[in-house]
Amino acid sequence: MMDYQSILNDIHAHVISEKDKGTVASYIPELALIDINNFGLHLRTKNGEEYGVGDCNKPFSIQSISKVLALALAASKKGSTILNRLGVEPSGHPFNQLALLEIENGIPRNPFINSGAIVVADIIVSLFNDPKVEFLNYVRNLTGDDNIHYNLNIAKSEKETGFRNYAAANLLKSFGNLENPVEEVLDYYFMQCALEMTCQQITKSFHLFANKGKCLFEKSQLSEQQAKRINAIMLTCGFYDEAGEFAFEVGLPGKSGVGGGIVALLPDHYVITTWSPGLNKKGNSKLGMLALEQFTTKTQLSIF
Ligand code: GLU
Repeated sequence: MMDYQSILNDIHAHVISEKDKGTVASYIPELALIDINNFGLHLRTKNGEEYGVGDCNKPFSIQSISKVLALALAASKKGSTILNRLGVEPSGHPFNQLALLEIENGIPRNPFINSGAIVVADIIVSLFNDPKVEFLNYVRNLTGDDNIHYNLNIAKSEKETGFRNYAAANLLKSFGNLENPVEEVLDYYFMQCALEMTCQQITKSFHLFANKGKCLFEKSQLSEQQAKRINAIMLTCGFYDEAGEFAFEVGLPGKSGVGGGIVALLPDHYVITTWSPGLNKKGNSKLGMLALEQFTTKTQLSIF
């Protein structure tokens, strides 16, 4: 029997002593206010054992981690028709790059770069009268926790400064790949990214990807094939233009966000979430990647 708690404790002690903690994202001004010294780590096994250390119960801005949950919601309603508007190839470029979108006629490479996530947001806006409420309820239901909220200051801060996302949405619109008005889609998208969750809540919400599409309460949210495919997209596209490095160092499907969170999972085994707001040059949490590399090395539990 593996002693997960002491493994997490060891990792925690090791990574918080690192001098170079990376840099907190500042292009969304409100995110720059977060204390770089936060560090949380939470693990939940498929059969429900939970282990946590550090700031694993402090809510933080999940940012791009929300793109996976939004994709799951859209896929559960629309199935593979969403692939008419999106690809599933890694972009090899930063998450907010625009040139590829222009060259490839407004079809984003994958749902986790910003342009792809904006298409998914458009699908959600078309599906629901009140998409913000529906998305929040979806995540609360997956987690079994009503204490999950949007951070309105962060949404507002991004709305005021999200120029590249406005550019991407306008390009999508010009190519006919956005059904709703740019303002409406981005108003929803910024709010979706501004969801705040703790490491523990994120771990729980991602259980469906480790459990063949069934959430914590054994309710089928996605087909087995959809869960498998979303895991594949996380592995190949979940870490900006560092997905190869993450597969190489850690060896798990997962998703990072500029708020400093990383969630990763081993299908049929566990989900693990880290939070450390300092990012490396590619936009992934510096200590989060280190912690996850240590976790799969110490436990020898990766997909490879
Ligand atoms: N809301 C952020 C953006 O669109 C999300 C970025 C991220 O976490 O990768 O720029």
